[in-house]
Amino acid sequence: SKARETQIKRTKTVCTYCGVGCSFEVWTKGRKILKIEPKPESPANGILTCVKGKFGWDFVNSPDRLTKPLIREGDKFREATWEEAISLISRKFKEIKEKYGPDAIGVIASDKMSNEEAYLAQKFARAVLGTNNVDNSARYCQAPATVGLWRTVGFGADSGTIRDIESADLIVVIGHNTTESHPVIGSKVKRAKKIRGAKIAVIDVRRHEIAEWADLFIKSKPGNDAIILAGVAKYILDNGWEDKEFIRNRVNGFEKFKESIEGFNLDYVESVTGVPKEQIIKLAELIHNAKNVVVLWGMGITQHVNGADTSTMISNLLLLTGNYGRPGTGAYPMRGHNNVQGVSDFGCLPNYFPGYQKFEEGVIKKFEENWKAKLNEKPGLQIPQMIEGVLEGKIHGLYIIGEDTVMVDCGTPLTRKALEEADFVVVQDMFMTETAKLADVVLPVASNLEKDGTFVNTERRIQRFYKAMEPIGEAKADWEIIQMIANAMGANWNYKHPSDIMDEVAKLCPIFSGVTYAKLEGFNSLLWPVYEERDTPLLYTEKFETPDGKAIMYPLEIEPVEMRDEIHKITLNSGRVLEHFHVGNMTRRVAGLTGRVPETFVEVSKELAQKYSINTGDLIMVKSKFGGEIRARALVTDRVQGDEIFIPLYASDPSKGVNILTAPIIDKGSGTPGYKDTPVIIERLQEG
Ligand code: SF4
Repeated sequence: SKARETQIKRTKTVCTYCGVGCSFEVWTKGRKILKIEPKPESPANGILTCVKGKFGWDFVNSPDRLTKPLIREGDKFREATWEEAISLISRKFKEIKEKYGPDAIGVIASDKMSNEEAYLAQKFARAVLGTNNVDNSARYCQAPATVGLWRTVGFGADSGTIRDIESADLIVVIGHNTTESHPVIGSKVKRAKKIRGAKIAVIDVRRHEIAEWADLFIKSKPGNDAIILAGVAKYILDNGWEDKEFIRNRVNGFEKFKESIEGFNLDYVESVTGVPKEQIIKLAELIHNAKNVVVLWGMGITQHVNGADTSTMISNLLLLTGNYGRPGTGAYPMRGHNNVQGVSDFGCLPNYFPGYQKFEEGVIKKFEENWKAKLNEKPGLQIPQMIEGVLEGKIHGLYIIGEDTVMVDCGTPLTRKALEEADFVVVQDMFMTETAKLADVVLPVASNLEKDGTFVNTERRIQRFYKAMEPIGEAKADWEIIQMIANAMGANWNYKHPSDIMDEVAKLCPIFSGVTYAKLEGFNSLLWPVYEERDTPLLYTEKFETPDGKAIMYPLEIEPVEMRDEIHKITLNSGRVLEHFHVGNMTRRVAGLTGRVPETFVEVSKELAQKYSINTGDLIMVKSKFGGEIRARALVTDRVQGDEIFIPLYASDPSKGVNILTAPIIDKGSGTPGYKDTPVIIERLQEG
C-alpha cells in the first residue's frame, strides 16, 4: 500500500455541495487531493465548476474529522470501539421501542448521504424500528415546491434538464439567488442571454447578481409572490393569451382556477404588493411573447408560510400558458443540497415508500414480503414535528444521520432543548457539530471521496461517485453503519456494496426499475423515471403523472402575508453566499473559502443604515419577534432594500447562527418552516 500511495489516482466523483451535480475527476495521491478536473463529458456541467467544487475539498483531511466512535459520559465523550457503540445503540433503541412503542423514535436523514444510504435509512426506520418517522432536510427547503408540483403535474421534481433551462426563450427566476446558490446554472442562464438572446425576468426581495442581468426586475414584498403571479395570470386571461388548446387537451380544473384568481386585477395587486402595474403587465407580455418559458425558484418562495401555495401558483401559471412537456419549458425548483432530490426519491419521507409509492395495500404487501417485516401503515412525523414530539414527551429517541439539526432547524434554542431532553440521541457525522455535541453516541462517517454510491441532482439525474481513498481513521460509510445497527437489532442484512442496495431498489420501485450500476459507469447517467429501455430527461411530453394523464390547475386561496408588528418592523431574510455551503460545517474547514468570507455579517439596506446611523463594519444586534438575538458586523448594501436585512446561513461561530432568530411557524401545505417570515428589530451597539 505504500507503493500505491505514491501513485497518482484519478477518480470520477460528483460534487458534494449543491444540487447542480457537477461531476469531475479528482486527482489524489494517498489522502492528498491534488486537483479537480472537470471533463467535457460531465453531463451537468461540462468543463464548468464553481469555487466550492474546484477548491472546497480540504474538509476531507481536516484535523477536525471524527475518527472514532464516541460515547457520552456525563459532560464529556470518551472513545469507544464500534462494537461497544453499536451494541449500546441497539440496546437503547430496543428499550425505547419496548417501553413507548416504535413511534417514539425518529430518524432524520441528511441530504448529503447517497441514494443507497437514504434507502437503508428509511428501511431501518420502517422495517427494523417499525415506524414511518423518517424525514430528510428537504423539509427545511424544497418540500413546498414538491407539494406544489404533486398537486398539479405529478412528480415533485424539475420537469426538464439544465439544457432545457439554457434553451428557453424566457427564464423567470423567482426567489432564487442563482449565481451564488447554483453557480454553474447561474453561468448557463447568463450564457443563454449572451449567446441566444434569451430574456430573463427576476422577482425577488433582494437585488442579487442575476437581477443585474434581468430584462425585468420586480422587487417583491416578502411572502407575497403568489399575489404577483396571480395578477400576471389574471392579466393573461383578461387578454385571452392563455394556451387554449393545451388547456383543452391536457388540463383539468381550469374553470375553478380561473374563478379563484378573479379578484386579482392590476389595481388590487399593486395596492397589496407595491409592485407597479406596468411591471405586472411587462411580465405577462414577456411570457406571452416567448415561445418557451421556464421558471426557476428557490428558498425565496419555499421558506414562507405560504410556500406550497406559491409553488402551486408557479405551476398553474406554466399550465395556463402551455409551458410544460416541450424542450425549453417547465418548472425548476432548484434543489439545494447535492442529494436533496435523491434522499427524498429513495424514501426518506414520512408518507411515501421509495420511488414515491403510496401507503396502499399492494405496495405495503410488496415491501413486507421483500423486507420480511410487518410494516406500520400510519404516516410518520416530519422533522419539526419530531422535535416538537420530543418536547411533548412523545419522541424519546433520535437517530440523526449527517444533519446539523440544531443549526438548520428553525428556532435553535428550542431544538437544543429538545436534544437535551431526548432520552437517547445518536448522531452520525464527519465533524463534532453543534448537534453532535448534544448526542449520547457520535459515530464517525466517511466523506463522499471515501466511499462509492450515487446522487440525484436537481435534474433528476442519477450519477455515480467512486471511492478515491480509504475512510479516515475508523470512519465508515453511512450505509455500513446503518446495516451494523440494523443487524444488531435483529435484521439480517447482507449488503456488500452499494450496488447491492441499488439492485433491491430497482426491483421494488417502478421509477428506478431500469437502473443498474453498469449503466451508470463513469460519466454515464440516467434521469428518472428510468424504465428498462429508457430514461426520461424531459417529463410530461405526452401525459402528466396523474390518474387520467391530465394536469390539474389547482385553485388557490391567496392571502397577503404580514408577520411584522408595531415593534418588529424589519423582515429578516437568510440564504447562501457563494463561498460557503449552508451553516459552513464543511466550507469553514477550507482555508481558501473562509479566507474570502471569514465572518457572518448582516446586510443592511441603505434606508435602514441611515435611519439607525449604521455604517459597514459596525457591530449590530438583531433581535427577533420570537425571542432570540445575535450580534454581527453590518454590511450596508443596495442588494437589500427598505425595511429588510439579510444574514447568511453561514455561521462563523454558533452564536451567529441565523436560526437563533427564526421560529417554528410552518407552511401548512408542507410542514416547512417560514424561515423568511421573521420580523426583527436592529440596534447599533457601542464598542470599546
Ligand atoms: Fe459543486 Fe454546485 Fe459548484 Fe457545481 S455549482 S461545483 S455542484 S457547488
